[in-house]
Amino acid sequence: MAPAARRPTEAPMLDPSLISRLTRRVAAASGATSTTSAPFTGKPLAELPQSSAADVAGAFERARTAQAAWAALPPRDRVAPFERFHDLVLDRQREILDIVQWETGKARRHAFEEVYDAAGGTLYYARRGPALLRRRRTPGAVPGATRTYVHHQPKGVVSVITPWNYPLTLPVADAVPALIAGNAVVAKPDTQTALTALWAIDLLVEAGLPEDLWIPVLGEPAEIGDALVDHADHVSFTGSSAVGAHIAQRAAARLVSCSAELGGKNPAIVCEDADLDRTVEGVLRACFSNAGQLCISMERIFVHDAIHDDFAGRLAAAVGEMTLNADLDFTADMGSLTYRRQLDRVAAHVEDARAKGADVLAGGRPRPDIGPLFYEPTLLAGVTEDMDACADETFGPVAAVHRFADEDEAVERANATGYGLNASIWTRDVARGRRLAERIRSGTVNINEGYGAAWASYDAPMGGMKRSGLGRRHGAEGLLRYTEPQTIASQHL
Ligand code: NAD
Repeated sequence: MAPAARRPTEAPMLDPSLISRLTRRVAAASGATSTTSAPFTGKPLAELPQSSAADVAGAFERARTAQAAWAALPPRDRVAPFERFHDLVLDRQREILDIVQWETGKARRHAFEEVYDAAGGTLYYARRGPALLRRRRTPGAVPGATRTYVHHQPKGVVSVITPWNYPLTLPVADAVPALIAGNAVVAKPDTQTALTALWAIDLLVEAGLPEDLWIPVLGEPAEIGDALVDHADHVSFTGSSAVGAHIAQRAAARLVSCSAELGGKNPAIVCEDADLDRTVEGVLRACFSNAGQLCISMERIFVHDAIHDDFAGRLAAAVGEMTLNADLDFTADMGSLTYRRQLDRVAAHVEDARAKGADVLAGGRPRPDIGPLFYEPTLLAGVTEDMDACADETFGPVAAVHRFADEDEAVERANATGYGLNASIWTRDVARGRRLAERIRSGTVNINEGYGAAWASYDAPMGGMKRSGLGRRHGAEGLLRYTEPQTIASQHL
């Protein structure tokens, strides 16, 4: 007999001793707290300390002291804690899967993607980091007379500001390369999902990272947002385009660098020669992973006229079969949304489209019978430019199918958005897919994949064009953004 599903209503709330163990590193002196609630149930989850602007200033001071000794180590002597962290994340995955699910309400399979990603991304930089940071010799202007090399100095103390949707992946993906490059980090995760980030910080210290190199602060942006920019030597921000633009401007006023991973309204182009079974499966995953609360998920699906109706019918049937549930095992296809405001936005986009004449091919309703923030995976057709769901990021489980007649139209419409984060092309002819990909203005394009290349390829840069971002994470770019290239030229007498 199969084991009974682990349901949140039956499971204990997070253990208070776990909460106090994880929150002890937060720089917060005033005693102010904020209470989070569990998206699955709407019930209180944890009371978390809140930092003030003065706490942020103090965190930077401590981090600066710790960073001086850390930067003096050669890169190869910094990586051992990160290799051990990789092993510990995998060993303790059950604990972190529960925390991620409690804080976000996501399905366990999507929480598992975070575990895998945090472990794999860390191991990548532990193994490749020292080579990427190695001195690079350059030929002198007058060969023989001058010897020149480039040395990668760490920037100093980096602010890492992250949202709630991938609370393990994102803080780790941005902090680990900064640390390996010789920086210290002051991290501000979203309070709703802070325990997940705090778990990662605690684990890396257990794995051997010296104290004060990765210091968490928590709090309202109005209280601590500016301090996080004003004390930093680089700001690594993930979140909405509006906040990203504000932070980039504030950093620029101090001539401090900023990398920003922002929103998307990502297109899929399904060509007439696509393998339909595989495409339906892939597009389904690309639209509804993490209930669509994924910056690189697909919200606009452009389908060639010749296969549009067949494809839309198959995709709608597959969407209708997805299972929604609040369980702490691997059975549900999709979980809850995380915030009430996210549910409201999703419902508003669908209602606006419906009222203006779009067809709802599947889903289209909230599901309070499962949990307060559940919304059905939803497929729309007939979405036009006057509808909010057409070009605004929904950031939820809503995608729309559109028709196209030829490649030029597909490319033009895929590019007709202010965003440029991710795209996908579905065709049996990969050479054709690559030709199309090079015409798309987005940081990543996947062929016969939704977002695999954008996410799982740690060696390749990932980021956005246009309003989707500034700079890149992953690969050499994701590491070297945290360094100042310093040229050292010498005359040998
Ligand atoms: P948000 O911009 O409101 O908040 C993101 C983070 O920034 C949170 O920790 C928040 O507390 C903090 N913040 C907000 N205002 C701030 C300020 N003035 N100064 C300093 N910090 C501030 O974003 P959100 O709505 O919570 O997250 C969803 C957005 O994030 C979506 O647009 C999504 O596409 C984007 N996102 C992008 C990526 C990527 O890699 N490109 C990944 C995940 C999410």
